[in-house]
Amino acid sequence: MLRTSAPLRAFLRYNSSKAGHYEAVVIGGGPGGYIHAIKLAQLNIKTACIESRGALGGTCLNVGCIPSKSLLNNTHLFHQVKHEAKDRGIDLPGEASINVANLQAAKDKSVKGLTLGVEMLFKKNGVTYLKGHGSFKDDKTLTVKPIDGAEPYEVTADNITIATGSVPTPFPGIEIDEERIVTSTGALSLKEVPKKLAIIGGGIIGLEMASVYSRIGSEVTIIEFQNAIGAGMDGEVAKQTQRLLQKQGLKFKLGTKVTSGKRDGDKVNISVEEVKSGKTEDLEADVLLVAIGRKPNTEGLNHQAAGVEEDEKGRIVIDSQFRTAKPHIRAIGDTTFGVMLAHKAEEEGVAAAEYIKHGHGHVNYGNIPSVMYTHPEVAWVGASEEQLKADGIKYKVGKFPFVANSRAKTNLDTDGFVKFLADAETQRVLGVHIIGPNAGEMIAEGGLALEYGASTEDIARTCHAHPTLSEAFKEAALATFDKPLNA
Ligand code: FAD
Ligand code: NAD
Repeated sequence: MLRTSAPLRAFLRYNSSKAGHYEAVVIGGGPGGYIHAIKLAQLNIKTACIESRGALGGTCLNVGCIPSKSLLNNTHLFHQVKHEAKDRGIDLPGEASINVANLQAAKDKSVKGLTLGVEMLFKKNGVTYLKGHGSFKDDKTLTVKPIDGAEPYEVTADNITIATGSVPTPFPGIEIDEERIVTSTGALSLKEVPKKLAIIGGGIIGLEMASVYSRIGSEVTIIEFQNAIGAGMDGEVAKQTQRLLQKQGLKFKLGTKVTSGKRDGDKVNISVEEVKSGKTEDLEADVLLVAIGRKPNTEGLNHQAAGVEEDEKGRIVIDSQFRTAKPHIRAIGDTTFGVMLAHKAEEEGVAAAEYIKHGHGHVNYGNIPSVMYTHPEVAWVGASEEQLKADGIKYKVGKFPFVANSRAKTNLDTDGFVKFLADAETQRVLGVHIIGPNAGEMIAEGGLALEYGASTEDIARTCHAHPTLSEAFKEAALATFDKPLNA
């Protein structure tokens, strides 16, 4: 007879008690999967969520949105203390310096609090948390391989949702060691500030991480294949963002491709080539960050065994109700189509749960805001000028600069503007683009405007508190059909 210790017996009992049948099983506990699981449970559906990371919250809470925003917030504070305190009337006893270990500890504290918070939400709502790697045995059966090495067990389900997220896109020929050549995951946990940081990709990860490290002393060079930064931002906003980031010390090599990147001891040698001229250059860095996008994560999922299909980019193919080729198997979030954003995954999590329960649900894909948490922040929702031009839509532009806003002036923080794009005839808001302090909070007002089909006049006639940054929002709306009052 197999002899086992009492704790092991208790552990095996605990695991086998989780085996069995559920009305719904969600694979992946990121923002898509955990919100979906909670919503399902709230709709009285017996739900389990399988997560292999050892913590809930997915990429976003563990190695994405939350840790990056912690570093961005605290390095911005550091920058202000170091460079602005005196002009704001604050004398310091000595010079401010950065403590990387404490910066990381503050980040870890936020991450831990939030991931444990999701675990509590699972308990509160009655979602069963299966700590392990999930894979399809067939279209109704999943094998769960516990993360602590216990025996795999099976669960069956009437409904299965794939919410396995995404992973960094590899750069062919460049070997990631998460020490000297890193993805965002390594960049979030560097133990010391690199003297020289090179970044491949001038998208959102590249620019946010560039801001973090340049504020605390790195010399940062961003190498971007396209002729613009910001991966799809409105063109005018992207140009202004680049100007402001350059003023902060970031160096850009646009229209440039990396041809090789190799670690040599404590250094990384990088070769680049200008796309147009073919001119080549060799660079040296202490750390190289590869941030050229993310790809769906279906590693070890064995979804083929369930008859679930993916497209040529590895995205799980779904219909408008999130159903795969097997209608009781759905996919949401980064692992399927659309922008890779946490709030998009969450919206899909709620809608997919409603489809399972009621047969209807809704996500407005024309109204998903984007925010880049640099300083100033950049935020947008709806169409860009480039998209409106491409679609042949006649539009008007209204803009208002923060330099004319009383609160921004009071705060000595006046870079940027609010820009409205509205239908030329009806004034209906088509897009809002903000570069400026607190843009990430302000963009919610643009989202409401789009959702309710507001016109710029509706916004301009809505009383906004004084003195607030949001008065710039109101004035930009006014500027699309009339004259602004304060500029
Ligand atoms: P994920 O969050 O990736 O979660 C999927 C989970 O599934 C993971 O925890 C994984 O361990 C688990 N899993 C995978 N396969 C299995 C399996 N077979 N069995 C069990 N578990 C499995 N978005 C924003 O909106 N705002 C931001 O500020 C922002 N900042 C970011 C910063 C960085 C550095 C990065 C990398 C991303 C950022 N994002 C941000 C993007 C955001 O993190 C993703 O869009 C979001 O996490 C997607 O959610 P998801 O639930 O689809 O997948
Ligand atoms: P991204 O798509 O935002 O940017 C990638 C950039 O790399 C693009 O500008 C692209 O032109 C460039 N690029 C691609 N291949 C290249 C090459 N070979 N050489 C040089 N440049 C190259 O991707 P990301 O920055 O890696 O971010 C991944 C995902 O995570 C995105 O979907 C992003 O929205 C999300 N994210 C969001 C936030 C946020 O919401 N604040 C923060 C971080 C990440």
